[in-house]
Amino acid sequence: MPRKPAQDPFLAHALRMKRQLVQWRRQIHQHPELAYGETQTAALVSGHLRSLGIHVRAGVGGTGVVGLIRGPRLAPTVLLRADMDALPIQEAADVPYRSKVAGVMHACGHDMHTAMLMGVASLLAARAGELAGSVKLCFQPAEESGAGALAMIRDGVLADPPIDAAVALHVHSRLPEGVVGLLTGPVTAFADSLRIIVRGRSAHAAAPHEGIDTIVVAAHLITSLQSLVAREIDPMRQRVVSLGMIGGGTAPNVVAESVTIDGTIRSFEEPVRRRLFARVRRHAKAVAQSMGATAEVELSEGYPPQVNDARLVDLLAGCAGSMLGAKAIRRMDDPSLGGEDFAFYGREARVPSIMFRLGITPRGEKNPAPGHSPLFRMDDEAVAPVGTAVLARYATELLADLARHA
Ligand SMILES: [Zn+2]
Ligand SMILES: [Zn+2]
Repeated sequence: MPRKPAQDPFLAHALRMKRQLVQWRRQIHQHPELAYGETQTAALVSGHLRSLGIHVRAGVGGTGVVGLIRGPRLAPTVLLRADMDALPIQEAADVPYRSKVAGVMHACGHDMHTAMLMGVASLLAARAGELAGSVKLCFQPAEESGAGALAMIRDGVLADPPIDAAVALHVHSRLPEGVVGLLTGPVTAFADSLRIIVRGRSAHAAAPHEGIDTIVVAAHLITSLQSLVAREIDPMRQRVVSLGMIGGGTAPNVVAESVTIDGTIRSFEEPVRRRLFARVRRHAKAVAQSMGATAEVELSEGYPPQVNDARLVDLLAGCAGSMLGAKAIRRMDDPSLGGEDFAFYGREARVPSIMFRLGITPRGEKNPAPGHSPLFRMDDEAVAPVGTAVLARYATELLADLARHA
């Protein structure tokens, strides 16, 4: 028999905390902090965890905070992660709790992630005696840029105690409010970066034959690169190459000596990634050379894909389904070519992991602003208790499951 939502003790507890959750979220929203500068947010988190008697390690990987809730037995351990950083975006959403920091905004929902994990701390601290292991609450800096997850890993977040599974949720504007979105396998992509520097020779614009025009070389390169992506990779394999920045030249009447093109390469599979790297490099050099220029190609590896473990997904579907009803569970079809540094936790610890989505768009709203939009917003009163309750109850069920399979 599916339980009515109000009867779930975790949901009831989170609903009682609603005002507090919303207050935390809005406080963080009004005072957004960029990657590795999350000091006020970290202080808010540490203060709350300490008030619950939770053991806290602050300054992990820069501004990260780790809280450990110990059950009667230390192992197994589940890591729950929230990210704390904001984006360099000027908020344009018309909300009473708008960002007070010019040019900085929580446009990805990390304010909500942090507030919900603070709520989870309260829910689980009250039930520590019933836990089948320990819960590591990981408040991470620098998800948007700077690989805060790696910084925390280098600073020991995966040790003492070692973790047996990693869990995160991300709010999602393309799902209705309170709906849990699930997907097995890859959910985010390799997010690698690409820089091409084309070098030619400057000349008077009226005598282009005396120089090597890197603007024209870049134009050829940019369009032909898309043909490469379309024609040289198996069409059944997902990938994208997007060039988001271009710069070059010094004056309208001077042949540009150099052009720099920056972009990103996204894929899910290592062989596709390797082939794209090799072909983009060869292609850029060949196009430049054919026009008398040279191309320097820098490819740097970014975040790996997050691959959701099937057993963890099924367990969450059962857990969230019994809390919220089957209608609130949505099996999603497509992974995202976005990148997420949460992927590092499961990968580095070699343990199963899951990142799931939580819908934030009020029913009936037609064109919600997506993440990273200056208009991004959500009904935090509806979303916060659901995410908090699902994460907390899932952590307890996952611990029990891991203990059974140990
Ligand atoms: Zn983001
Ligand atoms: Zn995000």
